[in-house]
Amino acid sequence: MAGNITLEVVTPDNAVVSEEAQIVMAPGEYGEFGVLIGHTSFLTTLKVGNLRYRDKAGSERVVFVSGGFAEVLPKKVTILAESAERRKDIDIERAKDAMKRAEERLAAKGREEDTDFLRAQAALQRAISRIGVVQGQGGA
Ligand code: ATP
Repeated sequence: MAGNITLEVVTPDNAVVSEEAQIVMAPGEYGEFGVLIGHTSFLTTLKVGNLRYRDKAGSERVVFVSGGFAEVLPKKVTILAESAERRKDIDIERAKDAMKRAEERLAAKGREEDTDFLRAQAALQRAISRIGVVQGQGGA
């Protein structure tokens, strides 16, 4: 089937993306998956990472997502994430500060079953991923 698929990326605070895309690549819990118009419907969880898509003009776009859910329908992909930012909206200094804080907490803790340790690990993952979105190749 030819044509574009509608992409919506929604957080509790924001509609981060609402546009047509030629293709969407999302960081599924079990690996990255690609969606074109006409895809079979499914629902899956996402891990922290980059959502990539080609907009209707053919430009590559990258959006950080902090995990969440994806609902794929034949004409629409909806991403529900706790936080998400387009590449141009990521504050790199904030992400570097978050990375440093998380590394300091991990160095001070060292007990994997500790809640703070797990929180710091998750924060570190988000920070590394945001920095990767900004520093990686690809569109806005
Ligand atoms: P921080 O410790 O810097 O708050 P975090 O990973 O704990 O980072 P989140 O809980 O994922 O932050 O997000 C909280 C809010 O702040 C969300 O609205 C998210 O979009 C925004 N946000 C977090 N980090 C950044 C960043 N580096 N650039 C832009 N927005 C950010």
